[in-house]
Amino acid sequence: MSENKNPIISNKWIVSNRGIKNIVDSQKPYAWLVEKERQSLGKIEDVATIFLTNQECPFKCLMCDLWKNTTNKSIPIGAIPNQLKWALSQMPQVKNLKLYNSGNFFDGKAIPEEDYEPIADLIKDFETVVVESHPKFINEKCLRFKNLLKPKLQVAIGLETVNTKVLFKLNKQMNLNDFKTAVDFLSENGISSRAFILLRPPFLTEEEGIFWAQKSIDFAFEVGVECCSVIPVRGGNGAMELLQETGDFSPPNIHSLETVIEYGIALNAGRVFADVWDLGLFSNCKKCVELRTERLIDMNLNQKIESKIQCDCN
Ligand code: SF4
Ligand SMILES: [Zn+2]
Repeated sequence: MSENKNPIISNKWIVSNRGIKNIVDSQKPYAWLVEKERQSLGKIEDVATIFLTNQECPFKCLMCDLWKNTTNKSIPIGAIPNQLKWALSQMPQVKNLKLYNSGNFFDGKAIPEEDYEPIADLIKDFETVVVESHPKFINEKCLRFKNLLKPKLQVAIGLETVNTKVLFKLNKQMNLNDFKTAVDFLSENGISSRAFILLRPPFLTEEEGIFWAQKSIDFAFEVGVECCSVIPVRGGNGAMELLQETGDFSPPNIHSLETVIEYGIALNAGRVFADVWDLGLFSNCKKCVELRTERLIDMNLNQKIESKIQCDCN
């Protein structure tokens, strides 16, 4: 595998290491789920997430595997409203909604502007809606969408890390000022924001991973985001497996996720969530992984530091 040592991280290299995409249907979201989340005012409520099917994000971030459930071409006008109708007919009624589209809600090639009005109409009974976007797509279009909406809008943005060298290598095509400018623009227009923060992206040790995730939470709140979601980095997109082989990437440990969430909650600056999906990937200890997962879920919901789990692996 010597040809993969110190690869030049580029769109071409990242894409060349990918596997194949899943088969998706432009008229149906590729998934939906309902989970509990603490709301900004402190109530714990059900939140539905609909994972919309649409054209792949134009960025090619090093750690991203969201391209797996996307199309290569734009989907027709009306497809996103059809996906929403389908999902809403399956789901229980809840007050809060996330519309995640594996990319940028305000990318016209992913979600045509012609669909904004029917989308707004379909979701008028929700109280909150969260969509996601890269800072480079945050502009007047967000305001057009917001002005059509009844629910309160929040935009989730991948900050990833404030380690600028690593952020550059992630091929995110974004710097910290782009992130700040996007958050400022949203705040000035009455739209709150949420930051996605990576725990231990490639090129960092475990300790550095913790340090930079904490610094990233600090930065996100300093620039005015309302909440942070910390995502332990996993493999699964081809490029990350190669970096794992060359020693440039190792998944973080669940202990580190606990440390970072404790830190974030103690700041008392806004909600701080751990992404608790499939945490078994981040633990070598079968004895406590479930207890640690439950602890993180409780901390997500209560935004309080729960008692530590006692285990030999400490
Ligand atoms: S901007 Fe988001 S969706 Fe697009 S490649 Fe990067 S991480 Fe993936
Ligand atoms: Zn243990």
